[in-house]
Amino acid sequence: MHELQNFIGGTFRPPREDRWYTSDDPASGQPGTRMPNSTESDVNDAVDAAAAAFTTWSKTTLQDRSKILLLIAAGIEAQLEAFAVAESEDQGKPISVARQIDIPRAIHNFRYFGQHILTETESVSYGVPQHMSYTRKMPAGVAALISPWNLPLYLLTWKIAPCLAYGCTCVCKPSEFTSRTASMLCQVLKDAGVPDGVVNMVFGDGPSAGQPLIEHPQVPLISFTGGTVTGKRIYERAAACVKRLSLELGGKNAVLVFDDADFAKLIPTVVRSSFSNQGEICLCGSRLFVQRGVYERFVAALTEATRQLRVGHPADAATQMGPLVSKPHYEKVLGYIELAKQLGGTIVTGGHPVTVPGYESGYYLAPTIITDVDPSSRICQEEIFGPVITICPFDTEAEALRYANDSMYGLSACIWTSHLSRAHRVAAAIQAAYVWINCWMVRDLTMPFGGMKGSGLGREGGQDSSHFFCESKTICLAE
Ligand code: NAD
Repeated sequence: MHELQNFIGGTFRPPREDRWYTSDDPASGQPGTRMPNSTESDVNDAVDAAAAAFTTWSKTTLQDRSKILLLIAAGIEAQLEAFAVAESEDQGKPISVARQIDIPRAIHNFRYFGQHILTETESVSYGVPQHMSYTRKMPAGVAALISPWNLPLYLLTWKIAPCLAYGCTCVCKPSEFTSRTASMLCQVLKDAGVPDGVVNMVFGDGPSAGQPLIEHPQVPLISFTGGTVTGKRIYERAAACVKRLSLELGGKNAVLVFDDADFAKLIPTVVRSSFSNQGEICLCGSRLFVQRGVYERFVAALTEATRQLRVGHPADAATQMGPLVSKPHYEKVLGYIELAKQLGGTIVTGGHPVTVPGYESGYYLAPTIITDVDPSSRICQEEIFGPVITICPFDTEAEALRYANDSMYGLSACIWTSHLSRAHRVAAAIQAAYVWINCWMVRDLTMPFGGMKGSGLGREGGQDSSHFFCESKTICLAE
């Protein structure tokens, strides 16, 4: 079993109270990693270390921070394979996904912000006669960075990289289901020259380690990625101290397929947007709406392609879908498949566990396509976050938009059409914060990223990260 320690003030140490949390190895269903189940006293130590480090880190130059971020990127890159293996074992994702997506993207997060901060400028205005006004962006303080289990290092570094770039220090609380690569990152940070206390890592579950962190009075900003229910709780708690929040929450993303879509391009991409990472990506499209003229053809083609997907052990290079992350999550997803049956849905393919020889207790599930369900039913409204999609037909553009927008969520959407003006019209009308036209999961880190409606609050990426991690101050000078 792997064993982790907290990382506070530049040292690895056990929790103050002898409390531990054990996460499963999802491929075998056996215990996988033991980590501190940190409590308020550990969080207090970590915040104290981050607050002490802030006094010097916030005054370092952009050039010095840029250099360190680029060294961190190189440090992860030098150990890409070790990080990929740990991520795959911990989360259940196929090793190919960890190698080609998760870890390269974590490297890119540091490299992107390391370069982006060198383009920072301050604005000056002479709008009032005999006066000059200018802005200064001041690092906002100690940030709480809380991340989920689906893309562990990828999403944690999406927070740490801009936090460091803009001069803040942080206490991170990775998901208790997937903490291994976060722990490995601590040594890379040390080796890259990140001063002690600038990044601190406390492990453990939400109530024990996360809650005291978000409530800590010396933590003025919280960047949280996770479920909408947790996000709402954090929003309520943060209100008491008027904390600055970035909430990247759940989704139930619509995919609209019009009858003029390019089928050859569409099917392989929709297989990915449905089932990549076992469907455990917040940006996966799980509600598919297909124009009636191509509905039967689409369902048949997608079903055939889905049946080719190979479910297997995550370490096997041929595996395209590994196990789900944990037993409770696996049971939740199976519960939704039962619900679909009760609602009269047709399970076109999948809908059952998969047995991988030698790993009979792992959390493997066949990729599942469901039809004949009402777009307003629970199966089409609630986030399942697994390899389960629904497909419903529509007749007109207005009907497609009505279905897409009939959701409490508003994270992302995909539009498949060859009709240029329709693509732009529907993209403008759809209630989602990131819209892909004839593609999926293409991320430009300069662009704002976040969610509408129940999918979140605020945006991060490029300039938006600067707005989040900095206080903007206006200074007015009489001539
Ligand atoms: P979760 O909300 O259960 O947990 C997320 C993190 O919050 C974990 O680290 C957890 O320990 C912590 N936490 C839980 N309760 C807490 C509390 N009271 N105070 C402080 N921290 C607490 O979510 P999850 O199950 O880990 O992740 C899946 C969810 O994340 C899905 O809803 C998915 O859509 C969402 N997600 C969103 C995005 C996005 O960019 N919008 C990206 C990935 C995942």
